[in-house]
Amino acid sequence: MADAKKEIEQFMKGLKKRNAHEPEFHQAVEEVVTSVMPWYLDHDDYRNAQILERLTEPDRIVIFRVSWETDAGCIRANRAWRVQFNHAIGPYKGGLRFDPSVTQSVLKFLGFEQIFKNSLTGLPMGGAKGGSNFNPKGKSDREIMRFCHSMMTELHRHIGEDVDVPAGDIGVGAREISYLFGQYMRLQNRWSAVMTGKGTSFGGSAIRTEATGYGCVYFCDDMLQHHDDSVEGKSIAISGSGNVARYAAEKAIDKGAKVISLSDSDGCVVIKNGLTDEQLKFAHELKEVKRGRISELAEKFDGVQFHKDKSPWGLKCEIAMPCATQNELDHDDAKQLIDNGVMAVCEGANMPTTSDAADLFREKKILHAPGKAANAGGVAVSGLEQTQNSMRVSWSREKVDNRLKSIMSEIHGRCAENGQQNGHVNYVDGANIGGFRRVADALLGYGVV
Ligand code: GLU
Repeated sequence: MADAKKEIEQFMKGLKKRNAHEPEFHQAVEEVVTSVMPWYLDHDDYRNAQILERLTEPDRIVIFRVSWETDAGCIRANRAWRVQFNHAIGPYKGGLRFDPSVTQSVLKFLGFEQIFKNSLTGLPMGGAKGGSNFNPKGKSDREIMRFCHSMMTELHRHIGEDVDVPAGDIGVGAREISYLFGQYMRLQNRWSAVMTGKGTSFGGSAIRTEATGYGCVYFCDDMLQHHDDSVEGKSIAISGSGNVARYAAEKAIDKGAKVISLSDSDGCVVIKNGLTDEQLKFAHELKEVKRGRISELAEKFDGVQFHKDKSPWGLKCEIAMPCATQNELDHDDAKQLIDNGVMAVCEGANMPTTSDAADLFREKKILHAPGKAANAGGVAVSGLEQTQNSMRVSWSREKVDNRLKSIMSEIHGRCAENGQQNGHVNYVDGANIGGFRRVADALLGYGVV
């Protein structure tokens, strides 16, 4: 067998040359290639078919301008993308992100991750991602509407229920999906299930909003139970305060855990005695209706403290759940968490852990569930939304929740099976190898495509 380390270096050298100035994309690819290379070198049929080389090249990237008008009548122009990365196992599927940090590199990393995440769910979904560097913060409803309508005026040509089915991500929730979907319908003059995360009054699935957060806690519990433990009674530090963070908190409380933090880009709130149902209800309303800042939770409730510009990773906790954004947990954070006795890190966000932090978790054998496994619940329920739309039915909350639970357990099983390493499960390798193999098999079967 060729030397895996050397092969990885060689591979990454070429990839970086072909994709200059795309650090997030390099990071996401390096993580997958590091896990998969030993297996790949052992399997000449996949290697001769250049599966890794083909999988790291997107099928296509559509780049376009979105022009729109502010309430004051000023004209703005943003850039938008749809990265259709791979559709070997199903129509392209993945969210749209609106955030000033969005670049082609960020969307390529997200689209690449989505291939393996979607594969791990066992559902027929390819990998894609899209979005814009548009900043929704501080914009009025009408401005958001004009931006979404303008974006869909171009995007509608490139999507379709059997082609590419976008959904939400950071900065894109129920309001934005409705505006986007409304414009698609108007342009196409047909109702088709071209997006997921829709409102339940027009084809959306029960539990879709909660799914990523709930799924993350289901996965965490499966992971701990596999090690004869559970989330019950554990103290959990959660970052973020969007859908993922708040519904992870809700399910964690439901399972008897103590949630000691939430955060946003201004800083974090620390709830020493554990977040209560009343505080969580306030946080849901604060973020979904008022679109306010998490510091307001500390202003409203005694026993909640706001730490400006701080992340929760300095807190003593048993489980860390990064649910905010990429690279929010670095090497120093990982060291602090380990020194404070963390037993598991379960990623609700996509690639929230820097490479050197992930290496430290690997070295110290901390249970580390990567986003592509632990946050797959969101896209899984999107897949179930597509099924319900095709069947023209709508399932109960209970039915969708039960399907979500069993999909998360199946994902856990795939990670545990592929990540066995001398009696220890490496969940990062398990998720990468498990997700990769299904797509690689499909590509191999298709011949040279
Ligand atoms: N944006 C979500 C993710 O990162 C969901 C994508 C979808 O539902 O298509 O998986």
